[in-house]
Amino acid sequence: MFRQAKRRTAGRRNFETSKAASIYQSTPASTKLYSSRLSFYDLPPLEEITLEQFETWAIDRLKVLIEIESCVARGKSLKDTEVVVKPLLLKYLPLTANNGSNVDTSLERKKDHYSHYILRLVFCRTDELRKKFIKNETILFKIRYGLLSPKEQQEFIESYSDKLPWQYIGNEEKLQLFEQLYTATGATIRNTLIVENSADPNFSISNEQLKQHIKTRENFIKLPFEKVPSLVSQRQVYLKAGFAYIPSTLQLSLLSIEFQDLLSRNLLRTFQTLPRLEEDDRILPLLTNLSTNFSNIQYDSASFGTDPSLISDINSQSIITPTINKHYPLCGSHLQKNLILNSHLKYQGRQQLGLFLKGIGLNIDEALKFWSFQFTKGSNTMTMEKFNKEYKYNIRHQYGLEGARTNYKPWDCATILLKPKPSKGEYHGCPYRDLSLDNLVHNLNEMGINNNQDINGIIEDVGKNDYTIACTKVFELTHKQQLEKSSNQAENLHINHPNLYFDRSRQLEKAELKSKGSQPVN
Ligand code: SF4
Repeated sequence: MFRQAKRRTAGRRNFETSKAASIYQSTPASTKLYSSRLSFYDLPPLEEITLEQFETWAIDRLKVLIEIESCVARGKSLKDTEVVVKPLLLKYLPLTANNGSNVDTSLERKKDHYSHYILRLVFCRTDELRKKFIKNETILFKIRYGLLSPKEQQEFIESYSDKLPWQYIGNEEKLQLFEQLYTATGATIRNTLIVENSADPNFSISNEQLKQHIKTRENFIKLPFEKVPSLVSQRQVYLKAGFAYIPSTLQLSLLSIEFQDLLSRNLLRTFQTLPRLEEDDRILPLLTNLSTNFSNIQYDSASFGTDPSLISDINSQSIITPTINKHYPLCGSHLQKNLILNSHLKYQGRQQLGLFLKGIGLNIDEALKFWSFQFTKGSNTMTMEKFNKEYKYNIRHQYGLEGARTNYKPWDCATILLKPKPSKGEYHGCPYRDLSLDNLVHNLNEMGINNNQDINGIIEDVGKNDYTIACTKVFELTHKQQLEKSSNQAENLHINHPNLYFDRSRQLEKAELKSKGSQPVN
């Protein structure tokens, strides 16, 4: 896949002797590159990494950013987004604290650093991509800042004293000014705590508990008041001798504004230097691939089938029962419903449904039974001979048993959306894009979604061409109770593949039945 033989190092050699490199090497900031778990990514990476690392590190970061993007589009709060994203961070971009564990923290931090810079190359190209990247990276930054201990937060701020001339007040000063600080900032801190604990309906905090929280958890900084005019005008901070005293709760928004501004400036600079990359024929295809295919990297259909209990009951009979059908995404049920109704599906529909069924675990023998039965049943029957002559090859071809013997994978949403739209008498495609509004609402009602607000939210996503987000919302609404009970928060993953929808739905049912100690019913 990559050209390993031809090394293009002239650019790098130039950089090594460049002014930028000498600034990098001489600045004391280089010594602190990986001292903190968090970063403003203000120093570019200089070491070599392999092309494989280049690609896999970028894809891992992209998986996290895609999930953040999906959470924002589904209107999740920062706290809810954090719950969804945390397991992904642990899996793809862990940042372990330096607490004597055996983990190679500098490698983790290097991956985080390099992957951020690689994605800058991907997302710097248009205004829209830059905005998207800044928004998602800022949320990631906020989540990670919240995961630091108060001591680490303070160390992080102090390590950027050149950018953040923040002055932490000592414990003595805090206790001296405690009543004033409590009066000025108590209400804001209380509101933030209530929002953060909104998932707990019984959460409340007394005045005494709030005072205790401020004494033990809030680290105040003081800044010249003219640096924070909006906080001053909203009377959210205590003012004394020209300084505003700002609690930890409000520091994050100041910090994220700083992060955003810096990233915005740096993305433009990256864009301006991008033409130099045109010379490198190893990296450009990777970047193009990352930007065009990013929506289809999250679900690896090849991994399906690792749980044998989820494919053992898939056969030509069971796939037409509600027990299995209820796990289909709308595209799958729309195709199968029309196949059964018309005893026929045109080519694109056969490909989309056939590969989807292959992905859920239907083997070739059962697939041939299913398709031949559906095509030869009913009044305007096709003979078995005609089916064998004209359609059997097509089904065997999907399973890699004919022609080039390619083991075709089920189509992901991006592939489905790239295919030509269905014409009259065709049923392939994504129903969120291709059905009329009335027909879509009718289908949503059939799936048990009747609340007007829910339906309007889905239609709004469809109007913005966010079909996979509409589908993810439908999944969340139709699996609401199971998701609430699920201990695995990674269940909230964005839907970008019909087989991911099916797979997750069955996993949730399996977990629910296991907790009840029963089996699925037909
Ligand atoms: Fe199918 Fe994807 Fe459309 Fe959902 S978004 S209906 S899974 S194509």
